Amino acid sequence: MPSLVIPADLLPADGRFGCGPSKVRPEQLAHLAEFGPALLGTSHRQAPVKNLVGRVRRGLGELFSLPEGYEVVLGNGGSTAFWDSAAVSLIERRAQLASFGEFGAKFAKAAGAPWLEAPEVRTAAPGTSARAEAAAGFDVYAWPQNETSTGVQAPVARVAGDAGALTVIDATSAAGGTAVDAREFDVYYFAPQKNFAADGGLWFALMSPAAIERVERVAASGRYIPEFLSLKNAVDNSRLDQTLNTPALATLLLMENQIDWINASGGLAWADARTRESSGLLYEWAEASSVATPFVADAADRSQVVVTIDFDESVDASAISKVLRENGVVDTEPYRKLGRNQLRIATFTAIEPDDVRKLLASIDHVLERIG
Ligand SMILES: *Cc1c(COP(=O)(O)O)cnc(C)c1O
Repeated sequence: MPSLVIPADLLPADGRFGCGPSKVRPEQLAHLAEFGPALLGTSHRQAPVKNLVGRVRRGLGELFSLPEGYEVVLGNGGSTAFWDSAAVSLIERRAQLASFGEFGAKFAKAAGAPWLEAPEVRTAAPGTSARAEAAAGFDVYAWPQNETSTGVQAPVARVAGDAGALTVIDATSAAGGTAVDAREFDVYYFAPQKNFAADGGLWFALMSPAAIERVERVAASGRYIPEFLSLKNAVDNSRLDQTLNTPALATLLLMENQIDWINASGGLAWADARTRESSGLLYEWAEASSVATPFVADAADRSQVVVTIDFDESVDASAISKVLRENGVVDTEPYRKLGRNQLRIATFTAIEPDDVRKLLASIDHVLERIG
């Protein structure tokens, strides 16, 4: 029995507001139930699974309006594995990274591999953003489009550095929910458990011809590259609609349905408008509130897919999350290491703006009683 019962008419129809794994739509589960029986438990080297991989790759190409020559590459291990792949397969000598939260910091750490020159890491305090800046000697510029730990969003625009320098974007929590122009990146990588509403475990990378050329050159350079981390391996396998080792087939089916749904609903522009609407409701609420305020002070830095709201000392945000959780509204806790008196709420594409309205009604209900 919850310590405080939120009336059913105030509760969101779907109570999942986590930043990954995140809400899976019932239609995705129906797709899995429909096509899973013939596919699950069959070889990923045979046509039925390869065709599924091909459909997912083509669907992503359509969603992101990929220019001629860009390729959709995939592999196992999620975005975390991609960081190590980038360190071994993509960065030639030295990277510059913008780091303004936990995820940006993790890639910066991976880019500090001993076979590379020490990276330049441009940091900013949590809740603000840092930018890359063109300078001589860097062959990769990298930053997250959306820093999931803090709810800070950064623009995706090419850095005009040395000839051939690559712009590499961690789009794990932005992709599929935030507009982007593919001509502005060389690598745009993500995992399926955020806006694509599937399960974790895979990574996808949209790669420009320059990025693929880099991968080929580093692979031919004689550097020791573990098989599993080799992006050349991943490119070669992806062209055949395969992965180096066995992928999660259920994840691919969940993702296929989500990509088709976004494409059929109006594509990336539609998803972008939808997440802006949802996040806008939360920011407006926080700005009007006497006890809450958006954690990200500069409105231009505010994420449209991960909203962080600070509470003043009169309110214990963890008590709100706890009551919400007891009522089936889950994962509104802040990023564990940020340690703030905060709620963090995903407004990914799958989440209904009307459910965000309900969430706010639920929070108001709880605040009136525990505040
Ligand atoms: C979730 C997330 C990751 C980590 O993804 P995994 O698939 O769990 O490795 C990396 N970067 C960002 C920005 C994320 O939001």
